[in-house]
Amino acid sequence: MRRTKIIATLGPASESPEQLEKLFKAGVDVVRLNFSHGTWDDHQRQIDRVHAVAKRCGRHIGIIGDLQGPKIRINRFRDGYVRLTEGQSFALDSALDPEAGTIDEVGVAYEQLVRDVAAGDVLLLDDGQIAMVVESVSGTRINCRVTVGGTLSDKKGINRQGGGMSAPALSDKDLDDLRRAAAAGVDWIAVSFVRDADDIHRARQVLEDAGGTGHIIAKIERAEAMGNLEAIIDASDGVMVARGDLGVEMGFAGLAGMQKTIIKLARRRHTVCITATQMMESMIHSQLPTRAEVSDVANAVMDGTDAVMLSAETAVGEYPVKAVAAMAEVCIGAETYHQSASRMSRHRMDDRFGAVDEAIAMSVMYAANHLDVEAIIALTESGTTALWMSRIRSDIPIFAFTNHESTRRRISLYRGVYPVAYENVHEHTEPIFRDVCQLLIDQHHVQPGDLVIFTKGSRRGLTGGTNEMRILPVTGL
Ligand code: PGA
Ligand code: MN
Repeated sequence: MRRTKIIATLGPASESPEQLEKLFKAGVDVVRLNFSHGTWDDHQRQIDRVHAVAKRCGRHIGIIGDLQGPKIRINRFRDGYVRLTEGQSFALDSALDPEAGTIDEVGVAYEQLVRDVAAGDVLLLDDGQIAMVVESVSGTRINCRVTVGGTLSDKKGINRQGGGMSAPALSDKDLDDLRRAAAAGVDWIAVSFVRDADDIHRARQVLEDAGGTGHIIAKIERAEAMGNLEAIIDASDGVMVARGDLGVEMGFAGLAGMQKTIIKLARRRHTVCITATQMMESMIHSQLPTRAEVSDVANAVMDGTDAVMLSAETAVGEYPVKAVAAMAEVCIGAETYHQSASRMSRHRMDDRFGAVDEAIAMSVMYAANHLDVEAIIALTESGTTALWMSRIRSDIPIFAFTNHESTRRRISLYRGVYPVAYENVHEHTEPIFRDVCQLLIDQHHVQPGDLVIFTKGSRRGLTGGTNEMRILPVTGL
């Protein structure tokens, strides 16, 4: 069984019910809706469709709503694009007609930009395809000299090398999307261009005020975020190594190292992590991944990421299903490498535990990794026990049994955790244990006689109440 989860960004190439079904069957565990594109009518239709198809396939598919964030963009050109040549002058000006950019100048939607940049700064446009140095700033106008030329088309993004843009992570549109996502029951909200923990606290406040139960993912894609990493991780439920924008702001040379740092810190601090962007980029137009892509996905798996994400590959690519299938295969290949499949872990060895349920989760993994058990079975309300268990390296599957659909969808993101629908109607442990064993026998995950570890709380329906751990052989009905 594959432990690393696969996230597919939805778009024109993947949103029909037929295509969704194929993607789920090929291995998608979670989908991402990109709120940068489309209306709320579109998003709502998509959410309903994902739920309906998942139900038909008997799967628990999580949904991430990805906020657009303050991506700073140029406006439009009179002809849709221009070809910039190295050495030419070019200006960005917030006072220009937003539809009438030329070879000499173009509008920008963000008035604050003139205060964020100074002479000598390097501006990167279109994810770094085009570069220009700021020569002077006057009034609303930023005068630049092009250092890397090429075709620049409408609405492309602008980054400042080294970071330092002042825009807050949540725009008015993001706040509105956040409230609507809360109402729509989206499982995860991804906050783009997070600077610090306060950005996450603010998002959580808005989400909770709107009655949302979704959890929050901080996208690490700004230079500032790397400086505030621990605080951001502690404020969030998950982090994303958003390699696209992060690579533009920080340069690509340090990216692999940053990925390892983020994943390691997230796991150590009991947070989920996603590795994203260009993982199977060539499969937008090709039926096979390059060896470099195979190696990149495998590396993220070996780093310990919970999930790997596809962006344009599934949103607009020619081979979305093949991209997912190839990714699934690479994940399994990497997971069987001895270091990934290791049962050695020093996770929190020197820490004190914060609660009884955490102590149970850690004890379970210690026991499981040092004993021949086939499965871990956790009865859970919020999924927290399963999250803690999955922070520890292991090759033993963690089956999380819960009555809550929202929990099942959310934990579909956790590495090595498999959600199972289960309504507990019993008071005593023995009949519950027989029920869950039978479910796993029916699904061919265990056989009578296999040793498993079983956890639950002594009081039904109590969140954070896990206080029981039993090691016993599977019994059939
Ligand atoms: P995006 O975020 O795809 O929303 O830009 C991911 C990244 O920047 O890598
Ligand atoms: Mn980004």
